Amino acid sequence: MTMASHHKILIVGGGTGGICVAARLAKAGLAADIAVVEPCQTHYYQPLWTLVGAGIFSFEESARPMKRLIPEGVIWHQDAALKISGEQKVVVLASSKILTYDWLVLAPGVELDWDAITGARDAINRPNVSCIYAPDYVVKTKSAIESAKNGRLIFTFPPPPVKCAGAPQKIMYLADEILRKKGNREQVEIQYRSALGGVFGIPVFAEVLNKVIQRKGIKTFYNQKLVEVRPTENIAVFADLATGKDLELVSYDYLHLIPPMHPPLMIRDSDVSIAAGPGKGWIDVDPFTLRHQRWSNIFALGDACNAPNAKTGAAIRKQAPVLVDHLLQAMTGGQSKKIYDGYASCPLVTGFGKVVLAEFGYDGKVMPSFPWNQAKESRLMWWLKTLILPRLYWYLMLRGRA
Ligand SMILES: Cc1cc2nc3c(=O)[nH]c(=O)nc-3n(C[C@H](O)[C@H](O)[C@H](O)COP(=O)(O)OP(=O)(O)OC[C@H]3O[C@@H](n4cnc5c(N)ncnc54)[C@H](O)[C@@H]3O)c2cc1C
Repeated sequence: MTMASHHKILIVGGGTGGICVAARLAKAGLAADIAVVEPCQTHYYQPLWTLVGAGIFSFEESARPMKRLIPEGVIWHQDAALKISGEQKVVVLASSKILTYDWLVLAPGVELDWDAITGARDAINRPNVSCIYAPDYVVKTKSAIESAKNGRLIFTFPPPPVKCAGAPQKIMYLADEILRKKGNREQVEIQYRSALGGVFGIPVFAEVLNKVIQRKGIKTFYNQKLVEVRPTENIAVFADLATGKDLELVSYDYLHLIPPMHPPLMIRDSDVSIAAGPGKGWIDVDPFTLRHQRWSNIFALGDACNAPNAKTGAAIRKQAPVLVDHLLQAMTGGQSKKIYDGYASCPLVTGFGKVVLAEFGYDGKVMPSFPWNQAKESRLMWWLKTLILPRLYWYLMLRGRA
């Protein structure tokens, strides 16, 4: 029988949410009470991957060694959580090590479900198929786009929830410009095939994005779900979610393939996730306090939660201080009054040097940071996206300062 190790605060996941919370708790003087469970040696700033895919940044610029980001004094279990029981207050690691805790913070992010699309695992290893959501397949995106000299490029959007729901169209707008720069945009057709009913959920931003799509001559197809890829024939098969019509077979020269996303199995299989009905498999938190609905000593933030915010790092920047305040108060028998209002932001890159900064909260409430109309393409916001936000991430967010 393996002996259990006990931690006052255990954090599962050393991505954006896990490190932000660890840093804030360490700043509050609790470093010695914290352990982080995280299997990977590398931490990625994923928002850069859209720009890595377009060849604007190198992949290496999106990565840092995990050990440099875990705050000093915090224990790092370099291992994956295999099983969680909220009832027993236990986390079992892949190495069979057993961890117990007083307080648990869950931030395991989401996984890409390659098996949900027939043929996707084979297709993604071909030179003319890529995915900016996956570290192994983001780098080849630009060369794959460039080599589709004639014919059709298809950009897909899977059934939600999707992290950074703007990214599937950002890479498409950049692809359009890559091909214009090469001088062969007129020879290719660009298609956007999305499982959603429109380009963006918030009308004021949808309006400007529809104009971008029109200007660029992109063909849109909504309520379309990619169900199969036949990579030997370069055929993508779509189901029409609105009409239930027969499957449509579409040929492609380049395919941007994004699988559906869900929390890791150890969450879906546990008593911390919603057991049935809407939100099944996602961590069951109060959307305003981020405290677990069933287990009051568990909190969660980030992409794996069922809270109805847009799944972004920007959301975590606002979630982390709220979660930490609730946790610190709860540890001393108090009650925090802080509320997470659903804030998220999506810098919608519409081309080289152009960004529409969409900021919004629960129920699509527009929440601009700047005193001007943000629903238009802006060069200033491009500098924000490419210069300021990466620094804000590495030097402030991950150090518990923003
Ligand atoms: C292409 C792309 C573009 C994006 N663009 C933007 C943007 O412009 N703006 C923005 O704000 N956000 C953007 N995002 C979204 C943002 O990166 C995520 O919302 C954010 O990283 C989520 O943080 P998280 O902590 O929930 O998950 P992650 O940061 O993904 O971290 C999860 C961590 O949990 C670990 N983990 C997984 N399973 C286990 C396990 N069993 N045991 C222990 N640890 C485990 C993982 O290894 C990982 O380190 C983008 C994402 C992508 C992919």
